[in-house]
Amino acid sequence: MVTEFLNLGAAYKELQLDIDAAVSRVMNSGWFILGEEVARFEKAFAAYCEAQHAVGVANGLDALILSLRALDIGLGDEVIVPSNTYIATWLAVSEVGASVVPVEPDPQTHNIDPARIETAITPRTRAVIAVHLYGQPVDLDPILTLTRTHRIALIEDAAQAHGARYRGQRIGSHGDLVCWSFYPAKNLGAMGDAGSVTTNNSVLAERVRMLGNYGGRRKYHNEILGLNSRLDEIQAAILSVKLPHMDDWNERRRLIAKQYSEAFAGTDLGLPTQPDYAECVWHLYVVRCPDRAGLVAHLDAAGVRTQMHYPIAPAEQPAYAVEAKELRDLPIARALAANVLSLPIGPHQSQTDTDRVIDAVCRYST
Ligand SMILES: *Cc1c(COP(=O)(O)O)cnc(C)c1O
Repeated sequence: MVTEFLNLGAAYKELQLDIDAAVSRVMNSGWFILGEEVARFEKAFAAYCEAQHAVGVANGLDALILSLRALDIGLGDEVIVPSNTYIATWLAVSEVGASVVPVEPDPQTHNIDPARIETAITPRTRAVIAVHLYGQPVDLDPILTLTRTHRIALIEDAAQAHGARYRGQRIGSHGDLVCWSFYPAKNLGAMGDAGSVTTNNSVLAERVRMLGNYGGRRKYHNEILGLNSRLDEIQAAILSVKLPHMDDWNERRRLIAKQYSEAFAGTDLGLPTQPDYAECVWHLYVVRCPDRAGLVAHLDAAGVRTQMHYPIAPAEQPAYAVEAKELRDLPIARALAANVLSLPIGPHQSQTDTDRVIDAVCRYST
C-alpha cells in the first residue's frame, strides 16, 4: 500500500456529474473565451474572498505580472519579496524588469518577517509581495502600516491560501492586489492552468482586466500595451462547481493537520505553528527535520510519498546566479530549504492514509 502525496483524481470523482455537466454546457454553448461562465465565477470568487472585484487570468504567475504592470512597476524599480517562496513570486518581478529585494522569513512561520522589511525599503521600492506560504496568512497589519507610511503597494501572493483568514477576514482584499493560482494542485484547482486577481480597488481591477485582454476594454480598441492572459470558459465553469466545496475541503485538511500536530508533538520535528491572527488552510503540512534524508528514505520504504517545498531557495537557483552576487546573504531561506519536508495532506486523503503517515513518522522520529 502506498500513500500518495496528493490525489488529484479524487476531487473529480466526488463531483464528476456536476463537472461533466458544466464542461458539456460550455462545449454546447460554442462560446469559449470571455463569456458568462467567467463572469459568473468572478462574481462568486470575489464574494468568497470578501473582495469587491475578481478578474480571471490565465495562471498565478500572470496574476502577479499583471498586478505589477497595473501598478506601473518596471525597470529601475525594486520590489520586496520573501527569500523563501515558490520561484513564481520572484519571476514576476524579474519579468516586468524590476529588481527583487529578498527579505528573510520568520523561521517559525516560514513567512516573510514583517520586522525585517523596513530596512530593505529604499527610494526605489515600489511594492512588497507578501506570500501566504503553505496556506498560512502572513501577519499583514504591520506590513500594511509600513506600505502606507512609505506609500508603496502591497501585493499578496495567495496562490496557496484559498479560504484562509487573517484576523477573521478572508484573504482577498487586505493588500492593493491579491494574486491567485488555480493550478490543479492548489486548494482550489482547475483542470488546467487558471488564475485570478482580487482587489477592492476598481481602477486597478479595470487595469488588470485590460492588461490581460490586449490592453483594451472593447475588441480592436487597444488603450494600453497589454498581453493575452485570460481565464477560459471551461476552467471557469469547473471552478464554479468546486468553489462551494472549498470550506468543507479546507476543514478536512484542518482535521488532518490537527492529527499530525498532536501525534508529532513529542518528536524532534519542527512543527507548523499557527499564530492567533491566522486561520490556515493547510495547502501543505511542512515539518522541519534534523535528518531529512533519513526520514524521507524511511517514509519511502513505508510507502509514504513526500515532497519538499522548496528544496532550493530562489536566490540559489541558477536563474538568479547573476543577481545572486548582489543579493544579501540569506541564511534562513537556505537553512529552511535544507530542512523542510511536506507530508501528504488533502481533502480526499483517507483516515487509513493519515494513520499510516502518523505511524511511519512516529516510528522514525522520537
Ligand atoms: C503556484 C504558485 C504560483 C504560480 O501559480 P501558477 O498558476 O502555477 O502560475 C505563484 N506563487 C505561489 C506561492 C504558488 O504556490
